[in-house]
Amino acid sequence: MLNINDIRKQFHVLDQQVYGKPLVYLDNAATTQKPLCVIERERDYYLHENCNIHRGVHYLSQKATEAYEHARQTVANFIHAKEAKEIIFTRGTTESLNLLATAFEHLISLDCFVPRNDAKRQTEMKVLVTAIEHHSNLVPWQQMVQRHQGQLLVVPMDDKGVLDIEQYEKMLKEGPKVVSIAHISNVLGTINPIKQMIAMAHQYDIPVVIDGAQSIAHHPIDVQDLDCDFFVFSGHKMYAPMGIGGLYGKAEWLEKLPPYQFGGEMVDTVSFEKTTFNVLPYKFEAGTPNVGAALGLETAIQFLQNLDRKAVEEHETQLLQSAIQQLSEIDDIRFIGEAEQRSGLVSFIIDGIHPYDLGTIIDKMGVAVRTGHHCAEPVMTHFDIPGTVRASFALYNTLEEVEIFTKAVKKAAMMLR
Ligand SMILES: *Cc1c(COP(=O)(O)O)cnc(C)c1O
Repeated sequence: MLNINDIRKQFHVLDQQVYGKPLVYLDNAATTQKPLCVIERERDYYLHENCNIHRGVHYLSQKATEAYEHARQTVANFIHAKEAKEIIFTRGTTESLNLLATAFEHLISLDCFVPRNDAKRQTEMKVLVTAIEHHSNLVPWQQMVQRHQGQLLVVPMDDKGVLDIEQYEKMLKEGPKVVSIAHISNVLGTINPIKQMIAMAHQYDIPVVIDGAQSIAHHPIDVQDLDCDFFVFSGHKMYAPMGIGGLYGKAEWLEKLPPYQFGGEMVDTVSFEKTTFNVLPYKFEAGTPNVGAALGLETAIQFLQNLDRKAVEEHETQLLQSAIQQLSEIDDIRFIGEAEQRSGLVSFIIDGIHPYDLGTIIDKMGVAVRTGHHCAEPVMTHFDIPGTVRASFALYNTLEEVEIFTKAVKKAAMMLR
């Protein structure tokens, strides 16, 4: 059993009033709050340990280096990577995906270089994504293929927000070089059948990138069981500081991909004529990393590991189901995303009411939700709506908060009609 009251004592930010009302924070898919232990870990680092890593022979530098590499090992264990060198620290999901798009672009164009106007090249630069992607997992690939007159293949979804797996299979036959899909949609909450989709892509020898930004805080991840080639995530959506995140890649893939950024630490030897690159994982970590945040990420992982994660999943499912059930009582509500397999959040609109107006009114009642397109404009286009209201849950939320939220929505709907 989770003791939510005890857990909430770790999150001081939740214990405040806005506009004279207790804060109900339901914008966790945008960023989660940080427990005291994470904040203190980062503070401690700057108070007692701050130092640049990998560079000094002196005591503090060695200590910081050890702590940073320990954090890498903790991340590896957390997602069941085979080796710590398969974990690259990045600023977050967005940077991880840009790293991959850039590295794949260079790998593919080096591999099969043909003149720009050659028709063969056009068939080479294809990437497959899905209709539910966050802009972060769409725009980097789109820009990459467009630079080479290539093609972005997009797996369609139905009106419940479920991907069309038959179409997916057909598109795999068109020969994309990479498949990149969200584990869980940040707008619809759909949990995609990624294990199946990864296995299908592997039948065609296509590597698969999983955008785990919305899954890692909610569900245990085992990258070896999934057999994904890459898995990317952000620390700040899993109770860790902003400015840190990760990229898992199978060692054989990371060895093959060329570096993304160049600078200190990622090199082996440098002369004016030639540079050779460092081994994994340093090859992909140019410049001074965010050491303090990496240590905060490690502490966030330990915070999660100290909880009964099965109980966390059950608690969050209960919050979601209770929200859906109470919201269903509202006339003319339309849920955006009604997949059977869903997690973490509920998105909706109410006929005749702009999501922004609804969000603004319930904000005055102390309830923080997100309104808008949630960095997924093509999803809004599919449903022909300007945006949604999205409530997203974290382990510190309570059933009482869900009730305050749904009552606020009901009241606001009455006021606006
Ligand atoms: C938040 C999010 C991203 C982007 O993450 P950043 O932390 O902003 O880099 C990408 N994909 C999904 C599904 C997300 O929810």
